Amino acid sequence: MSSATIETPEHKALRTAVAALGQKYGREYLARVAREGGHPDELWADAAKLGYLGVSLPEEYGGGGGGIAELSIVLEELGAAGCPLLMMVVSPAICGTVISRFGTEDQKRTWLPGLADGSLTMAFGITEPDAGSNSHRITTTARRDGDDWILTGRKVFISGVDIADATLIVGRTEDARSGRLVPCLFIVPREAPGFTRSVIDMELQAAEKQFELVLDDVRLPSSALVGDEDAGLLQLFAGLNPERIMTAAFAIGMGRYALAKAVDYAKTRQVWKDPIGAHQALAHPLAAAHIELELARLMMQKAAHLYDAGDDMGAGEAANMAKYAAGEACVRAVDQSVHTLGGNGLTREYGLASLITASRVARIAPVSREMILNFISHQTLGLPKSY
Ligand SMILES: Cc1cc2nc3c(=O)[nH]c(=O)nc-3n(C[C@H](O)[C@H](O)[C@H](O)COP(=O)(O)OP(=O)(O)OC[C@H]3O[C@@H](n4cnc5c(N)ncnc54)[C@H](O)[C@@H]3O)c2cc1C
Repeated sequence: MSSATIETPEHKALRTAVAALGQKYGREYLARVAREGGHPDELWADAAKLGYLGVSLPEEYGGGGGGIAELSIVLEELGAAGCPLLMMVVSPAICGTVISRFGTEDQKRTWLPGLADGSLTMAFGITEPDAGSNSHRITTTARRDGDDWILTGRKVFISGVDIADATLIVGRTEDARSGRLVPCLFIVPREAPGFTRSVIDMELQAAEKQFELVLDDVRLPSSALVGDEDAGLLQLFAGLNPERIMTAAFAIGMGRYALAKAVDYAKTRQVWKDPIGAHQALAHPLAAAHIELELARLMMQKAAHLYDAGDDMGAGEAANMAKYAAGEACVRAVDQSVHTLGGNGLTREYGLASLITASRVARIAPVSREMILNFISHQTLGLPKSY
């Protein structure tokens, strides 16, 4: 396959344009915003104005009419410039996609133009304290009360709830309270009575915070339900596969950023007769990290291509593999990059050490390395299940 068939000239132009925006902001901007407890509002607004946030959303609702392939390019390039926007993983990629595919006309008109132009943001909540990786165990329950829904439950590690106008909450209906998950999705406005949040103290230097949420008899109109109450996993995975592809983009961008810093350093730092990058003990792991990031990107492109072509099943396997490959490649690239800088790898000035924690996110979320290996063992290889 020639590289032209993997990425079109338009994709390449998009990469170049987003990279230029990323250069304008860079790592220092994001680090300062995080330090001051703010949010990357200026970058978010600029990315929206240039059509990047809404690039995958339908044109008729203010989007760019592209797909997850384009959206993942945006996130990867911002990450490679040191300023990834984590909320892109949830707001346009999960929530925007689910609403575009399964929302009512009214939901589309209410949310999609705002998600595309950045004036509205939506968070996404599936993880629960007592379910964790086992989503079939989630207990957030929706019961009917006349035309309304009453939602009760708890969520944990939900990103960006404070800045999101609403959170797309995954629950289950009262009739489907046990057994295999038949998920249903509700748009819960940030200030809905009974919807409370407390920030989790994370060891992450990031502008986006994670929250524990309590839904205490939150009353929602029937219009808060997105899609069918019994549409099942298909509807959920319409959002989760883009999330995995976008997490791969996030990880690849971060890995590229760290690697570029390390390569720059290795070319100039000299403690013997040649720069340290001449020593193969340093050069080879950096080269291997580059190869792994490229391979991960290839799988990400395949997953995005399958997803955008409407092959949800094929995209599911590829999105898992891409997330796995990218998470592992990112962790290794960051680790080697920090090491390449010696003591400077741990200084604030060079800013790489905080990526050690950040890079682990892609190994854990939104689905852990082990759960992907489980999925591939059972679904792809047909091996028996131990749990
Ligand atoms: C920074 C950050 C942001 C996040 N943002 C969001 C968000 O916006 N929305 C949201 O819904 N969630 C979010 N999450 C949650 C994330 O998706 C979960 O942390 C993740 O799914 C793992 O769940 P857990 O933390 O409960 O780990 P657990 O499920 O408790 O797993 C702990 C360990 O056990 C392993 N394990 C579990 N089961 C098995 C098994 N069967 N076989 C082998 N190993 C197993 C796991 O791989 C893991 O290593 C976020 C998490 C982080 C760290």
